[in-house]
Amino acid sequence: MGENEPKAIAALRGIGVSPGIVIGRAHTLNYQDVKETLYKLDNGLFVSREIKRFKRALKDSKRELLDIKKDIGDRRGIGPLLIDVYIMILEDKTFVESTIKNIGEHRVNAEWALKMTISTHREIFDKIEDGYLRERIRDLEYVGQRVLSNLSGKRHEKISDIEGEVVIVARDLSPADTVQMATRKILGFVTDMGGKTSHTAIVAKSIGIPAVVGLEKVTAEVSTGDVIIVDGTAGVVIVNPDPEVIKRYEDKKRHYLVMEDDMLKDAHLPAVTADGHSVGVGANIEFVEEIPSAVFHGANGVGLYRTEFIYINRKELPTEEEHFLNYRKVIEGEGIKWATIRTFDLGGDKFVSDAGLAEEMNPAMGLRAIRYCLQEVELFKVQLRAILRASAYGNTGILLPMISGVKEIMDARNIIDEVKGELISEGIPIDEDIKVGAMIEVPSAVIMAEQLAEKVAFFSIGTNDLIQYALAIDRVNERVTYLYEPLHPAILRMLRQVVDAGHNAGIKVAMCGEMAGDPLCTPILLGLKLDGLSMTPLAIPRVKKIIRNSTVRESAELLEAAMTFSTAHEIERHVRDYMIRRFPECCPVNWQGR
Ligand code: PEP
Ligand code: MG
Repeated sequence: MGENEPKAIAALRGIGVSPGIVIGRAHTLNYQDVKETLYKLDNGLFVSREIKRFKRALKDSKRELLDIKKDIGDRRGIGPLLIDVYIMILEDKTFVESTIKNIGEHRVNAEWALKMTISTHREIFDKIEDGYLRERIRDLEYVGQRVLSNLSGKRHEKISDIEGEVVIVARDLSPADTVQMATRKILGFVTDMGGKTSHTAIVAKSIGIPAVVGLEKVTAEVSTGDVIIVDGTAGVVIVNPDPEVIKRYEDKKRHYLVMEDDMLKDAHLPAVTADGHSVGVGANIEFVEEIPSAVFHGANGVGLYRTEFIYINRKELPTEEEHFLNYRKVIEGEGIKWATIRTFDLGGDKFVSDAGLAEEMNPAMGLRAIRYCLQEVELFKVQLRAILRASAYGNTGILLPMISGVKEIMDARNIIDEVKGELISEGIPIDEDIKVGAMIEVPSAVIMAEQLAEKVAFFSIGTNDLIQYALAIDRVNERVTYLYEPLHPAILRMLRQVVDAGHNAGIKVAMCGEMAGDPLCTPILLGLKLDGLSMTPLAIPRVKKIIRNSTVRESAELLEAAMTFSTAHEIERHVRDYMIRRFPECCPVNWQGR
C-alpha cells in the first residue's frame, strides 16, 4: 500500500465458487490478453511459413502442458485429466486441420486462422442448452489462448513459478492454471469472468482454496502487491481494506475455520434425525476422479453420476468397455457402498460429434435424455450393458432421466430386460435385481407419480429441471434467474405429491437437484420425509449436520407453516428466520441478501 496516501477501498461482488476466507497480497496475471491481428498473406511461400509457425506453436503448447502435468505429479482429482483433454484438443484433427485450411484458403496469418476456427466452434457450443456443457467452449478457448501466446512469442507465466504466498487476480483462468494452485503458496483466486459451473470452479473446490469469479472488473481495480480479501463463501472481494475491515475478516475467518473443522469432523456420522429418520446422503459426480472428495466430505454413496460427461470432448462414441470401466470404478470406489448411475442425458448427437449438429429451436424440450435413448436404442444398449456388467461389483441403481410418462418407463424397462437377457445368456454376471428408478423432473411425471411409482423401484427428483419446466424459467437464462425459486409454493406442492405417491407405493424418494444441497431447504426436505439427498460433495457436511440436529416432527411443522404462505418470498423469509434461530452456524453470511 502507498505510504502517505491510502489506496481506495473497493468492495466487489461476484460468484463465490469455492468457500472460505483469505487475506493476502494480490498477484495479477495478464496472459489471457493475447490479441489476434489480421494480416493477409501474399503468396504460397508465406502460407507454408504460417502453417509451420502454427505447427511449432502447437508443439510448444503441448510441451508446456506436459510440463504442467509433470509439476502436478500424480495428484488425484480432475486436474491431470483436464490437461489430457487440452492435449487432445491440441491434437484434434478438426482443430488443427481447419486452422491450416483457413490459412491456405483465406490467405490469413496463423493467429487469425486460429481465431476463425474458435469462432466456428463457439457458434456450435452457443447452441448447447446445458450450461455446463456449453461452458466447455472455455477449454477450447483456453487451448487457443495458449497457442496464441506461443505464436506471439509471449511466455505463459507458470503459476507454479510465482514467488510468495499470493491471491491470483486474472481476467479468466483455466483449470490447467487452477490445478497448479494446489501448492500451498496460492491462497485463493479471483477473476473477472467465469461462472458457477466452469471446470475452474470445480477444481478450486476440489483443492479447497477460496475463489470468487464473475467479478467483471477486478483486474481493473487490483494491482500486484495490493492487499485483498477473498470471501469465497459470500462471493465478496475487498481490495485495499483498512485495518478495521481486515480485523473483521480475520475474526470471520477464524469463525469459519472452527465451524468447517467442526462440520468436517462429524461429516462421516450417519445422517439420522434426532427422532430416528435416516436420510441416504450421496454425492453428485461428473467424473470418477471426484469420488475421494465425495467420501472425504461424508458421502458413502453416489446419488447421481452424470454419465453424459463420458461423452464430452470426444468425437467417437465411448465403447462398452470404456463405459464399464468407468462404472466399475465408481461402484468399487473406496468408501462407496452404493451408486446410482443415470443413463446419459444428452440431446441429439450434439456432444458426440461436432459435425452435423441437430439444431433445435428449443433444445431443453427437444430430443434429449430418455427420448433420445429410446430412438437410438443401439447406443442406449451399449450403456445399459456396461451398467449391468458393473452391477455385479456392488450395489448399483439405474436412473432414467427426463421421464414424462409411463410409456417411456415401460419402453426403457423392456430394453433393460432385453439387455439383461442377452448378458445372462452370454454367461456374464450381473445383478439381476438391479433397481431401476425414474427422475422426476418433468411436471407431467409429478402428475403421474402415482402410476409411475408402480413401475419403478425409486424416484429421484431433479429439481433443476423440474423448477425450470414448472415455473417456465430457462435455467441458463440469467435474466430470469430471480424467478428460479426452489421454495416456490407450487414447487413444494409438487414435491409433496411426488413423495406421497412414492411412499404410498412403498418406494423410496430421493432428490438430486441443487435444492438437495441447499442448507436453507434442508428442514423443508426433512419435513417432506425425503429418503435420500444427493448433492455436490462440499455441501454434504453442512446438510448432514442440520439433519442430525433436527427432528422430522419440527421439520414437518415448519413445512406446514410454509405451506400456508402463497409466495416464495414469504416462505423463504419464514424458513430463513427459523434457520438463523436454530442453526446459526450453518447459515451462510449472505442469506441476509436472499
Ligand atoms: C436436475 O435436473 O435436477 C438434475 C439433477 O439433473 P441435471 O442438473 O443434470 O439436469
Ligand atoms: Mg435434469
